Amino acid sequence: AAFSELGLGEWAIQTCKELGMRKPTPVQTHCIPKILAGRDVLGIAQTGSGKTAAFALPILHRLAEDPYGVFALVITPTRELAFQLAEQFRALGSCLHLRCSVVVGGMDMITQAKALVSRPHVVVATPGRVKVLLEENPDIPKVFQRTKDTSFDLPLIAMHELAKQDKIVEIFLVLDEADRVLDAGFEEELRVVFQCLPKNRQTLLFSATMTGDLQTLLELSANKAYFYEA
Ligand code: AMP
Repeated sequence: AAFSELGLGEWAIQTCKELGMRKPTPVQTHCIPKILAGRDVLGIAQTGSGKTAAFALPILHRLAEDPYGVFALVITPTRELAFQLAEQFRALGSCLHLRCSVVVGGMDMITQAKALVSRPHVVVATPGRVKVLLEENPDIPKVFQRTKDTSFDLPLIAMHELAKQDKIVEIFLVLDEADRVLDAGFEEELRVVFQCLPKNRQTLLFSATMTGDLQTLLELSANKAYFYEA
């Protein structure tokens, strides 16, 4: 297959070419059309398989179509991976004026909270910090905290305003290197995040190995999932 056969916009095909991505990898060939079609995905894919672009490109494609109506939360096991993922999103979305924020432990909470108010299209986070941001926290100003009338406050203020304007908000929840997140003992954090986000979101899970916990997490979504394994 070629990038031009996957349903992506012309800008995305051009960007891939500029980044030296000549041909889609198998995980990209299989998953990109399914994600564009609105399916949840559970992909068993190793680091180096091109899995990041497999979820980033279709998310960016939807963002290019509707910059105000799409939000993605990407969860990954480590800070280092979070910054790398954000880098890839920025590179792939360089022509879109993409706003991408990183929310990880070890960084000043207020600075991060401020970054979130800039209404990022994509937030890349580690599980511990996302959970903290979703819960009552005396270190975070009230305005950033979850309120009764929203199920989820991370996409932040942007979601309130979109909801007020009756615009449709499309939400992607991505869990990258899911087996590592679970191995690191973040099951409870994931459960909180998966329960807080609206059920009509699109959920994309990528893992090097398959575990029953992933299936359970996916069941918290409302969509029928597409399974990919190389
Ligand atoms: P990942 O598996 O997402 O960690 O990606 C591994 C590396 O492969 C990254 O540095 C990407 O830039 C690169 N990459 C992803 N997709 C392609 C592609 N279709 N062709 C060439 N390189 C790619």
